[in-house]
Amino acid sequence: MVIIIGAGPVGLAAGIALRKRDIPFLIIDKGSLVHSLYRYPVNMTFFSTSDRLEIGGIPFISHNTKPTRREALEYYRRVAEHFALPLHLYEEVTGISGTQGEFTVATDKATYAAEAVIVASGFYGKPHLLGVPGEDLPHVKHYYDEPHPYAFRHLVVVGAGNSAVDVALETYRAGSKVTMLVREPAIKDSVKYWVKPDIENRIREGSIGARFNTLITRIEPGTVWFREGDGPEERVAADFVLAMTGYEPDFGLLEAAGVRIGTDPHRTPEHNPDTLETNVPGLYLAGVICGGLDTGRYFIENTRHHGEIIAGKLGL
Ligand SMILES: Cc1cc2nc3c(=O)[nH]c(=O)nc-3n(C[C@H](O)[C@H](O)[C@H](O)COP(=O)(O)OP(=O)(O)OC[C@H]3O[C@@H](n4cnc5c(N)ncnc54)[C@H](O)[C@@H]3O)c2cc1C
Repeated sequence: MVIIIGAGPVGLAAGIALRKRDIPFLIIDKGSLVHSLYRYPVNMTFFSTSDRLEIGGIPFISHNTKPTRREALEYYRRVAEHFALPLHLYEEVTGISGTQGEFTVATDKATYAAEAVIVASGFYGKPHLLGVPGEDLPHVKHYYDEPHPYAFRHLVVVGAGNSAVDVALETYRAGSKVTMLVREPAIKDSVKYWVKPDIENRIREGSIGARFNTLITRIEPGTVWFREGDGPEERVAADFVLAMTGYEPDFGLLEAAGVRIGTDPHRTPEHNPDTLETNVPGLYLAGVICGGLDTGRYFIENTRHHGEIIAGKLGL
């Protein structure tokens, strides 16, 4: 039996690849099916066209060339149903021990024996924290769902990447008084080219406030304190704070299992890129987790085949 940790698109694709080779497996997820996608902004549209998000050879038909979150959730539900994938949802894997042929996988509900383990646990479960006083206050969030709760409120959006820009534009258009606090000197170049002019024009015309080269020093109810460069501490009104500062994989599970985490800036987990096997024989990585902290390097489009690679090796 092979245990797959994570019922995201890549974990599901790995299950399908094992199914096609009659290799028994079980997929375990601490949340719902494709839980990361479920936690994405409600109104988001993927930057990929639907054909590039397909798994298991099942066509993904969407209304527009780029699917919505809702269409993707339905698609992956249908695929899981079509292949009758064995799923344990709302069960968190808390430990992996052993080696090839004799793994023990512990969860918050049970313990499983496995010949091999595939870790496809993604990156969206652990936000990058600001590390400032007040970050744990209830009006501060690291996940965004939809704009309505922020209508006609002072909203501080922290960040300069795609998520921060999408949130700032959507909430501004829903009536929020938005101020972006950005550590960098400008909006990131990695922002989608079809969105970048929009945010830059909104900032230039003053519809969306923005302060660059800033560092948040503390957060209080109703106020965010920050410094611009070496300047004095300043304040901005904030009924809510959306810290769109990125996310990172949970390295703890891998490290405890004996996987070496790189000392490179991206803390890349050690694995053979051709077989996806880690330094622990029989323990494989699949999906975005292969990039460590470089969460923009791998995504569904370029990792949905990982399961085929691993199944090919396991099926030998
Ligand atoms: C706003 C946004 C838009 C995006 N648009 C695109 C796009 O257009 N095209 C594209 O290719 N990619 C896109 N991506 C990236 C893409 O969604 C991710 O790269 C993709 O979800 C990675 O798939 P995965 O299966 O590796 O991980 P995930 O989808 O993150 O799945 C990992 C799963 O593992 C589970 N898990 C984690 N830890 C445990 C544990 N200890 N025990 C049990 N279960 C666990 C999680 O609950 C989760 O369901 C986008 C990302 C974001 C944030």
